[in-house]
Amino acid sequence: MNILTDAWIPVVVGGKRSHCSVSEVQSLSELSISTGRSDFDFAIKLLLIGLKNTDYVESLGDNPTRFLQRVSAKEGKLFPIGTLLLESPGANAIKHNTDFFVKRGGCAAMCTECAHIALYTQSQFAGAAGQGYYPARLFHNAIYLIIKDTVEKTVNANLTKEKQAINAYFSEACQYWLDDANSDIPCGICGSEKPTITHFYKKGLAERPDPVENPHLAQTISGRKYAITPTQTLIDIMDGAAFDSAVAIPPVSITENAKIGDDILCFSTFYDKASLKLVVHERFKLREAFPRKMLMQLSKATWQLKGRSNKPTEYDAGCVVDARKNMAARLLSGMDEGEAAFDVYQEMIPENTLSLSKQRRDAISSVMANYYATGEFFGKRTRSF
Ligand SMILES: [Zn+2]
Repeated sequence: MNILTDAWIPVVVGGKRSHCSVSEVQSLSELSISTGRSDFDFAIKLLLIGLKNTDYVESLGDNPTRFLQRVSAKEGKLFPIGTLLLESPGANAIKHNTDFFVKRGGCAAMCTECAHIALYTQSQFAGAAGQGYYPARLFHNAIYLIIKDTVEKTVNANLTKEKQAINAYFSEACQYWLDDANSDIPCGICGSEKPTITHFYKKGLAERPDPVENPHLAQTISGRKYAITPTQTLIDIMDGAAFDSAVAIPPVSITENAKIGDDILCFSTFYDKASLKLVVHERFKLREAFPRKMLMQLSKATWQLKGRSNKPTEYDAGCVVDARKNMAARLLSGMDEGEAAFDVYQEMIPENTLSLSKQRRDAISSVMANYYATGEFFGKRTRSF
């Protein structure tokens, strides 16, 4: 299947089901993308954004077929196609017969189109595979997209000022190869009665990936990806109000592009003990502009962390360094954010933090002085606090 030119995207237009190519789908309503599964619907939107927000298309060269597949995977093991679905039990659970809640064999065959979408979804969102292996980069995350009325406007609303690394959208954790479509079992996803695929090859376990750089991920103040838990609401995540454990910073694409009242679609997966426990697919309106409030919260949380010890001398310097790094990223996103970040530093200047040592007050002041002189907060890192 040629992902760039074939009609593979399942759509419903005027009550009729069909497939569109990447270019044909652009003018349609974003709601017309309809696979029957929320994870697939979200994955397609992410993929369409990724095609435009990276150099992936160029990297495919003249032959963009066999999307996300490597022929070397055929040296690996053959798996039932249904195990590509996020909720399917892992190989280990089947081996030990512990797939009590999510049963094996739920989807015996997929048409070519659905199999490719399942492969992409698996590659980006599949959960931990045990022994510290992480087969997908975006698993256990909250990912936010700005949604507009048409597909094309939605794609454009989520493009970032800078192009992203290819593996932000197209990571290949394992080597995969879809077997030939030669079964007459109907597709378990869309019901198609064209010849279907019943198995795929997989070789290798993924290494633990580098910290993910994806412009649609919320992050913590330490720069790590933000893992949601079932007890935190979406709005809390977006407000960065999860003070107790981690503070979420809105994704770059939201900060750069979103306006109050925009529709935001959140997709997140929560894994526990290597099995999928929760999938959130929720749409809501952006309630407020982020930078100022978010940064103030960031600042408060930073101080709160400090306050835990009640001994400023034992302050976790790494936390401040990380907070500054992230504020720097915010500053790059425009004047409003620059001002807000500036306010944070005002707050960090210790009129109201008398417990700070003179050494630390001086250190903060020198950061500010450097900003006034050079326009840079972080040109000279002050390590003394
Ligand atoms: Zn299908």
